[in-house]
Amino acid sequence: MTDKPALKLKRIQDMTVKGKRVLVRVDYNVPMKGSKIEDNARIRETLKTLEYLIAEGAKIVLIAHLGRPKGKVEPKYSLKPVAAELAKLLKKPVAFADDCVGPVAEKAVAALKPGDVLLLENLRFHAEEEANDPAFAKALAKNGEIFIQDAFGALHRAHASTAGVTKYLPGAIGFLVQRELEFLDRVIGNPQRPFLAIIGGAKVSDKLAVLDKLLERVDALLIGGAMAYTFLAAQGINIGKSLLEKDQIDAAKAIIEKAYNKKVEILLPADHLVVREIKADAAVVSTQAMSIPSDMIGVDIGPHSIEFFTDHIAKAKTIFWNGPMGIFEMPAFAEGSTAVAKAMAEATEKGAITIVGGGDSLSVLAKTGLASKMSHCSTGGGASLELLEGKALPGLVALAS
Ligand code: AMP
Repeated sequence: MTDKPALKLKRIQDMTVKGKRVLVRVDYNVPMKGSKIEDNARIRETLKTLEYLIAEGAKIVLIAHLGRPKGKVEPKYSLKPVAAELAKLLKKPVAFADDCVGPVAEKAVAALKPGDVLLLENLRFHAEEEANDPAFAKALAKNGEIFIQDAFGALHRAHASTAGVTKYLPGAIGFLVQRELEFLDRVIGNPQRPFLAIIGGAKVSDKLAVLDKLLERVDALLIGGAMAYTFLAAQGINIGKSLLEKDQIDAAKAIIEKAYNKKVEILLPADHLVVREIKADAAVVSTQAMSIPSDMIGVDIGPHSIEFFTDHIAKAKTIFWNGPMGIFEMPAFAEGSTAVAKAMAEATEKGAITIVGGGDSLSVLAKTGLASKMSHCSTGGGASLELLEGKALPGLVALAS
């Protein structure tokens, strides 16, 4: 059961959009290399909503952020390349305006005809966006008559474009947010069991609250990546020179104890790949044991862990994965994360519901070509974890009230 009341949210299908200026908040925070988009998945994910609005004859005004320009105009964070990419995907022109508020935006909006698409420049070029400034939210709202929230990845932030703007326009959720909520609610509300959560990555402190909450919902919790070392250290196991959050050892102990009391299995790596120095061509040794020699650094899970984790994944009926099993950015240390992705793909084929969230896990899927083999790839790592924690997402709360 979810521990927060269900929010009453209007859906895009419930609104009359024909001929109206529809302000759509999208998540176009795509990975860039210079002015080149490295992965257009987040843009593709919005096409269903945009194609619907085009077919309905709405005048579409898109607002989004890119990177962290911290309230200043920084050309490297311009959304202009995104407009070009979107035009390619939609197979129609996409207009672009150099500002998201004020006369520049208003002039571009006024020129729109039904079915036209306009993307406004990066919201975060204005410090008022992240400050959720009411005057800025009102200025943004001037660009539309209806607000559609389709930026799932931004819903856990109370910013002007996610929370503030909803005070000035009637609003609803788009198809992307609907799909995200549908899958995540399935996991939170009534998961098919056994329910296994796989949490990896480096920072225990960041994910402690979610681990604690997950214990209320899951049958087993698999912990990999550097996070695992803090849990191993909490049990007195030598982790050598591996990454450790010393100040989180007590918290890790508390999680282990809570899991024991709740009869939730905690699965930790049984062996590791270790190196003397973290570099792409380092000599890699497998420990064959849970402990790590004093002069070595853990960089990935070992072959026994892969086998053991794969078995557990194969038995689960609902699987949620966030965070890599090792320093997957270096191919020599990516085997553990790749093995998890493969095992999840096989589990999906056999009928399990598999959900993957978080940029690093998605990047493993992109590299292995396994994204389409999952039941659902969430566009919001932070937002999906906060939903699992049972938190109300500010962007949704604002829209519902
Ligand atoms: P997080 O930001 O907490 O999700 O952590 C993601 C990062 O954890 C990735 O950049 C990985 O390279 C890193 N990571 C995973 N396993 C290890 C490890 N064994 N040692 C150091 N970093 C790791």
